[in-house]
Amino acid sequence: MRDSDLYTRILGIEAPWQVSAVKVEMTKKEIVVQVERKPGEKLCCRTCGKELSGYDTRRRRWRHLDTCQYKTILEANVPRVKCPEHGVVTTLVPWAEPNSGFTAMFEALVIDWLKEASTSAVSRLMGLSWNAIDGIMQRAVKRGLARRGQMCARRLGVDETAFKKRHDYVTIVSDQSAGMVLHVGLDRKKAGLKEWYESLPESYL
Ligand SMILES: [Zn+2]
Repeated sequence: MRDSDLYTRILGIEAPWQVSAVKVEMTKKEIVVQVERKPGEKLCCRTCGKELSGYDTRRRRWRHLDTCQYKTILEANVPRVKCPEHGVVTTLVPWAEPNSGFTAMFEALVIDWLKEASTSAVSRLMGLSWNAIDGIMQRAVKRGLARRGQMCARRLGVDETAFKKRHDYVTIVSDQSAGMVLHVGLDRKKAGLKEWYESLPESYL
C-alpha cells in the first residue's frame, strides 16, 4: 500500500478529497500529509449553502493526531467562493472546523485529556499554548450548544480539572451518553454551574 493510500484510509479522508503525498521531515520530527480536492466538484458557501464556482484557494495547515512520535500535519489548498450575499468565504473541510488549526480528531483528544489532567499538563505534553487550548474548549462548547436543543442528555458528567495558572479550576460538563462537551466553566463555583443548568431548555432536563 502506498503512503498516500494508507493515510487516506487512516485519516478517513473521503471524496472529493484525497491524500496526494506524504512527506517525512526527519529533522523537525514531522509528517506532512498533503490533501487535495478533486477539481470540478461542486462548492458551496458555508453560511447559506448556495452552490458556487471556485474563486481561489488558500493554503491551510492543521495539526492532527501524532503518527508514532511524529507531529502530523495536514496541508491542503482550500477553495474559496464568492457568495453574492456573504462575500469571499473559505469552504468547509470535513476534517476540521472553520478557523481552527487542528483537526476535529485532535481537538477531541485534547478535550478527553482535559478531563483527566490539568491544563498545564495538557499544554506541556501536547505542545499546545494556553490560547490554543482555550480555542479548542470554546469550539467544544459552541458545538455542544448547537446540538443541545436537538437531543436529550441521559447522563451528565461534571469534571473539574485543576489549573495551576490563570484559573484554579475548569469545569467540563459533558453528555456522557453522546460523548459531547456541553459547557466549560472557568471556575467551579456553584453559581456558575447553577446559571448554566438554568439556561437549559426544559425539554433537556
Ligand atoms: Zn452565502
